[in-house]
Amino acid sequence: FSGAGTIRATLFPGDGIGPEIAKAVKQVFSAVQVPIEWEEHYVGTVVDPKTGSFITWNSMESVRQCGIGLKGPMATPIGKGHKSLNLTLRKELGLYANVRPCLSIPGYKTRYDDVDLITIRENTEGEYSGLEHQVVRGVVESLKIITRQASIRVAEYAFHYAKLHGRKRVSAIHKANIMKKTDGLFLQCCREVAEKYPDLVYEEVIIDNCCMMLVKNPALFDVLVMPNLYGDIISDLCAGLIGGLGLTPSGNIGDNGLALMEAVHGTAPDIAGKNMANPTALLLSSVMMLKHLKMNEPAEKIHKSILKTIADGKWRTFDLGGSTSCSDYTKAVIDNL
Ligand code: NAD
Repeated sequence: FSGAGTIRATLFPGDGIGPEIAKAVKQVFSAVQVPIEWEEHYVGTVVDPKTGSFITWNSMESVRQCGIGLKGPMATPIGKGHKSLNLTLRKELGLYANVRPCLSIPGYKTRYDDVDLITIRENTEGEYSGLEHQVVRGVVESLKIITRQASIRVAEYAFHYAKLHGRKRVSAIHKANIMKKTDGLFLQCCREVAEKYPDLVYEEVIIDNCCMMLVKNPALFDVLVMPNLYGDIISDLCAGLIGGLGLTPSGNIGDNGLALMEAVHGTAPDIAGKNMANPTALLLSSVMMLKHLKMNEPAEKIHKSILKTIADGKWRTFDLGGSTSCSDYTKAVIDNL
């Protein structure tokens, strides 16, 4: 692609299926000759004292210096062990908003044909603040932190995104009827920002009702903005509407254009190492990365090829009801470029 200089970007292949799907991205990028030079970083085996996590300081510096990166999923042990690697990255790098577009894939039939939803999740606090402790034996406490600063910031991002992308409606998702102070503050911040965007319809929807409405008729929503935990849950629900976690990309956005794209899904330990993963979600995340870098030409080329490969119907990975391996699907995407 003429004119564009080579850009350095951090790549975390991650755990589980991560290295398999990261390999797919690298192969597609080299087929298209995308002028990206990857700085590959792996999760360490000991806790780095500077980060308090298995993510090393060097890895963190790589993202800071490149300003852009792509990450595979990283495993977090349930109920024990080390601090979440994802939390460390998001907090240390100030990646305050997580954007999760969820669009129907033409030619892959699900219950709904025209899903077009954008979930914007607050990415640094809420129930994910990592502040849990035992009060006395048998009683534990987890702190849900909501700050005005983080809520305004993510609301600003959501409304700005909606306006920039010609969207019509922003829905703030909450449980402020019960969590009056925390979700109440989040809503208050969304309202304040909404006032600056009179052209956009603003509404507030309680999370449980939102789930029901989404599965009944996803077209009721457009851009959804919400605190951290709700965003985590709702975006998986949205992924289910279009065919599953193998298809949904995301972008973690920070200050000064810093961005780390990743698939919505996790490490899929049940299929790891079996060449069965669907690399589409990470490939679409890499397309988001290229668009973020204004490399629209290779981005479009890769995007079209992914859509064509799925629409063909011959190359369906296991999660989409087919039997095509990760590597054969990747080859088909490259052939369709
Ligand atoms: P998961 O997303 O890994 O898997 C859920 C289901 O979806 C599994 O059946 C899996 O096989 C399937 N799936 C997911 N991605 C797929 C793909 N690309 N192709 C085909 N099938 C796919 O969720 P989980 O099992 O709850 O979590 C496993 C691990 O991943 C945990 O350690 C969790 O903490 C971690 N996780 C990491 C991230 C991240 O790094 N951003 C996100 C979610 C979960």
